[in-house]
Amino acid sequence: MTAPGMVVVGAGECGVRAAFALRENGWTGPVTLVGAEPLLPYERPPLSKAGLVSDSAGPVTIRDAGAYRDADIELVSGVEAAGLDTGAHHVELADGRRLGYERLLLATGARARPLPFDGTPVHLLRTHADAVALRRRLVPGTRVGVIGGGFIGLELAASAAARGCPVTVVELGPRPLGRAVPARIAAVLAARHVAAGIDLRCGTAVGRLAPTGTGITVGLADGDAVEVDVVVAGVGSVPETALAERAGLAVENGIRADARLATSAPDVFAAGDCCSFPHPLYDDRRVRLESWRAAQEQGAAAARSMLGGPEPYAAVPWFWSDQHDLSLQVTGLTDAAVGEAVRLRPDGVELWFGLGAQGRLLAAAGVGPGNAVAKDVRLAEMLIARRAVPDPAALADPAVPLKSLLRSPVSA
Ligand SMILES: Cc1cc2nc3c(=O)[nH]c(=O)nc-3n(C[C@H](O)[C@H](O)[C@H](O)COP(=O)(O)OP(=O)(O)OC[C@H]3O[C@@H](n4cnc5c(N)ncnc54)[C@H](O)[C@@H]3O)c2cc1C
Repeated sequence: MTAPGMVVVGAGECGVRAAFALRENGWTGPVTLVGAEPLLPYERPPLSKAGLVSDSAGPVTIRDAGAYRDADIELVSGVEAAGLDTGAHHVELADGRRLGYERLLLATGARARPLPFDGTPVHLLRTHADAVALRRRLVPGTRVGVIGGGFIGLELAASAAARGCPVTVVELGPRPLGRAVPARIAAVLAARHVAAGIDLRCGTAVGRLAPTGTGITVGLADGDAVEVDVVVAGVGSVPETALAERAGLAVENGIRADARLATSAPDVFAAGDCCSFPHPLYDDRRVRLESWRAAQEQGAAAARSMLGGPEPYAAVPWFWSDQHDLSLQVTGLTDAAVGEAVRLRPDGVELWFGLGAQGRLLAAAGVGPGNAVAKDVRLAEMLIARRAVPDPAALADPAVPLKSLLRSPVSA
């Protein structure tokens, strides 16, 4: 049994950021970071983008091995935390080791939701190992069937097309990216996929998968069928809560955390894709964010809370997605909006603003080549953080600099 200190379970984006943030905030006792994957912690976003396009792409590490040594963070890789005793304040590792903790962070992330079809091999994409297995199959001419028109499905569709694979995407909803992207912004991306030759089929479900002598038949609910060589499911992810549940922690769309990311168990915190928490900018609505930046910010915030910090986590949600030559950025919670304003910039780029009932800016989204929308989305994020109530006509007018709207009235 080691001396108790800070233990972080889950060595992904969030866990790594938390471990370093503990040091940056002055913690000098032991820090142990436990990760189930047998690799130096790596970035996930490239797995569906450059990491899938290039055969030679290795994992993009978050920090190099020396950084952990320099910060005196003990990195335990390739070992799962199998048990948690919140009364005795210790974690049991799958190799039999027992780690005592003073404070514990669960940053266990999420896993790809499997499809309920047995008997046909279906690829998932969450880990570096998944990306390598999929990449091996994506030789030019291989017919790829993607189930799910969400972020992962569309990113990997674009990457497969870039490798010379004919791609069919099947999406149950009436349009792709139905969950978090406003319709007109999603339409720009959908058109780009179609222009790249991707067969995008919305409003129909996959009813069956049947291996044939020449490939796999994907049977659709609308009666049609598509023959492909490889099937990949991008149908969302499920928070990794097994360890927390076994230990009796409250779970509600992920490990239930409070505004400081503290869980229902004393001295146990949760952050990143695995947890839900009340967001103060959205009337304390309980949200679970699945985004790279949220994972980092929550890791840092959880570290501060583990050291006794009182502040709630209140960062404005933000994520991006790269598909073909377009980059999407979304800030805030789009589904909280009841009204909208649309700005069409002279360069043809469209920006969408989501407004609350009293006109408060709650979300914004834009898509364009490269960094085209970054500055405007950043300004929208600042407006959201201030609870600004900007004039909708000014939001829509491309002649009005968004920066000038930072002087807008704010809501209580
Ligand atoms: C293919 C892909 C592309 C993405 N692209 C984007 C993007 O373009 N933009 C964006 O904003 N976000 C993107 N994301 C989302 C982003 O990567 C995640 O939100 C982020 O990685 C979450 O970090 P996390 O540390 O909370 O969880 P994870 O990255 O899932 O890390 C959790 C880690 O904990 C480990 N673990 C789980 N249980 C245990 C246990 N009991 N013991 C030990 N270890 C355990 C897991 O093995 C895993 O390594 C993408 C995700 C994927 C999969």
